Amino acid sequence: MTPRRRLIAGNWKMNKDTCAAAILAQDILNRTDPWYAEDMDIVLCPPFTDLKTVRTVLEYDRSEINLGAQDVFWEAEGAYTGAISVAMLQELNCCYCIIGHSERRQYFHEDAAVIARKLVALDKAAIKAILCVGEGAEIRAGGPGPAEAYVVGQLRDVLDAADLTTPENLVVAYEPIWSIGTGQTATPESAESMAAALRALLSERFGADLAARLRILYGGSLKPENATFFTDLGDIDGGLVGGASLVAEDFVALIKAWK
Ligand code: PEP
Repeated sequence: MTPRRRLIAGNWKMNKDTCAAAILAQDILNRTDPWYAEDMDIVLCPPFTDLKTVRTVLEYDRSEINLGAQDVFWEAEGAYTGAISVAMLQELNCCYCIIGHSERRQYFHEDAAVIARKLVALDKAAIKAILCVGEGAEIRAGGPGPAEAYVVGQLRDVLDAADLTTPENLVVAYEPIWSIGTGQTATPESAESMAAALRALLSERFGADLAARLRILYGGSLKPENATFFTDLGDIDGGLVGGASLVAEDFVALIKAWK
């Protein structure tokens, strides 16, 4: 199997003011041996207002840990109140950006067309997109077949609307909505089966060689207690971590589990 670099990303969501962000980033650095980042990718995704502060902490430490954003807008500049462009992220050395998170789909009504425009804008700038997909509880209640059809369909809808020039920068995060922030994870078997179905679509789209190199993450209530559930599965290459990324000790325990 093609070795894929493991990836752990912390999604801080709308948490941490500037001072708390600096303290959390430094705490994570203090607990993370610098060599960890040599053979895996570690990404911190704080709110926009903390990006510069966290970048300063990482740079001061000469850390290999990467900076990521939680969202982006596709236009280059102009009258788009409240929006942040790809170039603004680049200026801050953000090399990853989460898109399509279920909270953005739910609260900001983002659909496949919107997510695809963001994906294309990131693609042009060679910023790695962490594209989230996942089913709700009612779909999961119908069993694995309908859940896989729905989630693969979510990815297909975005890829259909996005003409990518560098698909190697795509990372897919499978995050069942019923598991986000609930303490309930997917079973390793169902997460692996979903990741295999997503990879099959990537293979159909981009060819088997490239699909074998693309990373697929699991996200949803990852905690130190369940850290090893997903680390030895053939199609899952890391985690997207919400709540546990706000506690340095827990986030670093997850990093260590994926090493
Ligand atoms: C998330 O929202 O991306 C997430 C995985 O959250 P949590 O780890 O808190 O479930």
